[in-house]
Amino acid sequence: MSSKKDRKPGKNFDSRSIKLPRVGAHLSVKGGVSQAVVRCLDVGAECLQIFTQSPRIWDSRQLSGEEILQFRSYVKKYGIHPIVAHAVYLPNIAASDKSLRKKTIDALLKECDRAYRLGLDDLILHPGSHRGKGEKEGIRLAALALDEVLEQVPEGGTFITLETTAGHGDTLGGKMSHFNSILSHCKHPEKIGICLDTCHLYSAGYDITTEQGIEDMTGEIKAEFGIDKLRAVHVNDSKREIGSHIDRHAHIGRGYLGCHTFYLLMQRPKFLNLPFLLETPKEKSRLGVNMDKVNLRVLKYIRNKAMQEDVTDAQPGA
Ligand SMILES: [Zn+2]
Ligand SMILES: [Zn+2]
Repeated sequence: MSSKKDRKPGKNFDSRSIKLPRVGAHLSVKGGVSQAVVRCLDVGAECLQIFTQSPRIWDSRQLSGEEILQFRSYVKKYGIHPIVAHAVYLPNIAASDKSLRKKTIDALLKECDRAYRLGLDDLILHPGSHRGKGEKEGIRLAALALDEVLEQVPEGGTFITLETTAGHGDTLGGKMSHFNSILSHCKHPEKIGICLDTCHLYSAGYDITTEQGIEDMTGEIKAEFGIDKLRAVHVNDSKREIGSHIDRHAHIGRGYLGCHTFYLLMQRPKFLNLPFLLETPKEKSRLGVNMDKVNLRVLKYIRNKAMQEDVTDAQPGA
């Protein structure tokens, strides 16, 4: 672990306004969306990611007024925030096929509507696959689809937050430059955020296991779209080696990234206000403990270590 003098706070870093990165997880909505909030208490999550409908089907689910009210009251009562939705897997904003584009836009409008009614902060979305049409065309189509959706969502509504990917095959999002290109083609870049996924970054070739590697990555982010665009971190260790372009999430500290990577990330002043959300396998430990609970304990331990050197009285980000 690095010493105090190794830390390189940003120019505007102000230790008086420091907050702790909030840690949470993607949790099931089985039994109704409000049950995901209840599950936060069980595993020790401070922030939350959910699917607002089954992720592998097109048919959209209607949320009842009662379900929404209950969700909102639990969120308030238990102080869970931010809360984000992960979009279903079928939409592809970079697709050229007309019927797929129509289905994609319809599905995203419904996703945005559900997220808005639940009061969620972000809808997290993969930037899609160009399916052989080339990056440039995929990026153009992705920006068009995003604009079509964003033009129809209410002011001050949910952000659409694009996630970094492992960059497998024709998928966009394995390079920071893709996001810059999508944002610069969009008419509404102010409504779009970026989510970093630690496993995907590593699989895509970003060596975030070292201070220098993180410095290089953040330098690239600054040059391409700016740190302020970041809205969330998916905090997953990786079962596969750097540059593999294979997306296999591992429990924290049990993959190629290791605990030190998360320590380095949590130390970055620019990342302090971001939610760190687990998307690790839903399993039990050998002792029968829910692994989300175990991973969150590990993350909180790392967070304490990362904060100890500079902060004595910090509270989880208010
Ligand atoms: Zn992710
Ligand atoms: Zn993944």
